[in-house]
Amino acid sequence: MMAALLLTVSQGIQAQHVTRAVAHRGYWTCEGSAQNSLTSLQKAYEAGCWGSELDIWLTADGQLVVNHDAHTLDGLDIEKTDSKQLLESKLKNGETLPSLEAYLDAGKSLTPMMLVLELKTQSTPERNIELARKVVDMVKDKGMEDQVEYIAFSNQVGTELIRLAPEAQVAYLNGDKTPAELKELGYTGLDYAHKVLKKNSHWIDEAHKLGLTVNVWTVNKAEDLQYFIDHKADYITTNEPALLLDMLKKK
Ligand code: MG
Repeated sequence: MMAALLLTVSQGIQAQHVTRAVAHRGYWTCEGSAQNSLTSLQKAYEAGCWGSELDIWLTADGQLVVNHDAHTLDGLDIEKTDSKQLLESKLKNGETLPSLEAYLDAGKSLTPMMLVLELKTQSTPERNIELARKVVDMVKDKGMEDQVEYIAFSNQVGTELIRLAPEAQVAYLNGDKTPAELKELGYTGLDYAHKVLKKNSHWIDEAHKLGLTVNVWTVNKAEDLQYFIDHKADYITTNEPALLLDMLKKK
């Protein structure tokens, strides 16, 4: 009787597990979009994504801009260029490179979609700290604390985010720490490359037992998406959000 009850309860818990779709650099693999553009943010929302990821850099004059690479499409080194010039740079879809402020303002109107803010590793430890401080301050100024989560490859950036925003969700990207190590450092989750997580698939369960969330990037093929749905990743970060959302509906 007890065993049957436990089985029922555990099946109930399993049935409730939800995997959420995060558009990687926004939804850019559709018509008229581009990575990290305001259009990609809007498209992620229209597709029904739980969240949309973006990448943040600190400019030479201490401003925050959204772009993946260290250089713009026209070759400007973001860390060595002033924001005025950077904000005139064109993205692949003809939009100009967005400031973080413009991106957050656009995101705020798209609630409840979450914004997954990746803070890129800067060229010096001082700039890493300045980046973390300025991003946390801007999110706070806009009252968007509950609409953002943070991710970083740099443990220096990650631990600074944890210190500055102790209530925030902060996940580590670099794949070289165990769930127990992340928990000890104060992270709320891991966000690892799919190859790393497949090789260490026991980390998913270990993370969950420690109360950590599991995100995985960048998963684009149907068979890989299915693997992480089946293995109960909490979030899947993908360049193919429409495919993932379709699979989640059929689950
Ligand atoms: Mg990123």
